[in-house]
Amino acid sequence: SIPLGYFGGIGGAAKRGILVKGSIFLDILTAVKTVVFDKTGTLTKGVFKVAKIVTQNNFSELELLKIAAQTESHSSHPIAESIREAYGQPIDDADVTNYEEIAGYGIRATVNNQVVLAGNDRLLHRENIDHDTCNVEGTVVHLAVEGRYAGYILIADEIKDDAVKAIQDLKAVGVEHTVMLTGDNGIVAKSIAEQLGVDSYKAELLPEGKVEAIEALLSRSGNSKVAFVGDGINDTPVIARADIGMAMGGLGSDAAIETADVVIMTDAPSKVAEAIQVAKKTRQIVV
Ligand code: ADP
Ligand code: MG
Repeated sequence: SIPLGYFGGIGGAAKRGILVKGSIFLDILTAVKTVVFDKTGTLTKGVFKVAKIVTQNNFSELELLKIAAQTESHSSHPIAESIREAYGQPIDDADVTNYEEIAGYGIRATVNNQVVLAGNDRLLHRENIDHDTCNVEGTVVHLAVEGRYAGYILIADEIKDDAVKAIQDLKAVGVEHTVMLTGDNGIVAKSIAEQLGVDSYKAELLPEGKVEAIEALLSRSGNSKVAFVGDGINDTPVIARADIGMAMGGLGSDAAIETADVVIMTDAPSKVAEAIQVAKKTRQIVV
């Protein structure tokens, strides 16, 4: 039989917007010493704004933005949403064919009968497209049309209001190590990691690189537990692999919410420390 205190714990967490999917996860939460966060949509709002458009090879800014919005027309990634929002006009589906989303890289599609790539340095590198690597702070979406570099769109995300508190509160509940993993570039990652005070970070990771990073942390964790917190865009496999997988309920994908052991309904990263605190209190009552 399940001790009554566990129902109190699960109920108490639920009242705070934290859905814990079973009493076993309350036990595991009490032993968490490492908390690993995805960046985009988890520590940052995941709501990008276009900050700058830099064109090459005779494209106008509006042309570049339009081609980018068309190429991104079927993606639910926050990057894609920001580009469509900046363009602000309806996109005719008939103009976009052979659409392919490459997780951790970007998009390839045929737009107005031309092959277009929209994505990061890694994508252009893979496709052998010559371009300048730009050392700017922000997420860069490069565009190439029919094998020719067309320029880039610089987009910026904001740190969530409670992200600094989220990291501080984890220290207060006994978490020893905070980590940020991201597929975004190293310049953005370093800046955000420093602003938040996370202990370490890894950037430019492919989705499988995030799984490898979690596995390395799990293998070194001994008796303590490792939690991963993500928004579910490209990180459902990591949510599944961690000792405790946590998903943002508002932004998160259905698959992530299904896979997660704990769902944070309010999308606030400070709820991670609150979940650990509730779990520790519950344990004092039960034991
Ligand atoms: P994060 O780890 O920050 O949550 P993702 O793993 O979702 O990011 O994506 C990693 C990187 O892959 C992005 O920073 C971006 O460079 C590129 N990328 C992913 N999806 C897209 C897209 N739809 N359009 C352009 N670039 C994308
Ligand atoms: Mg993400």
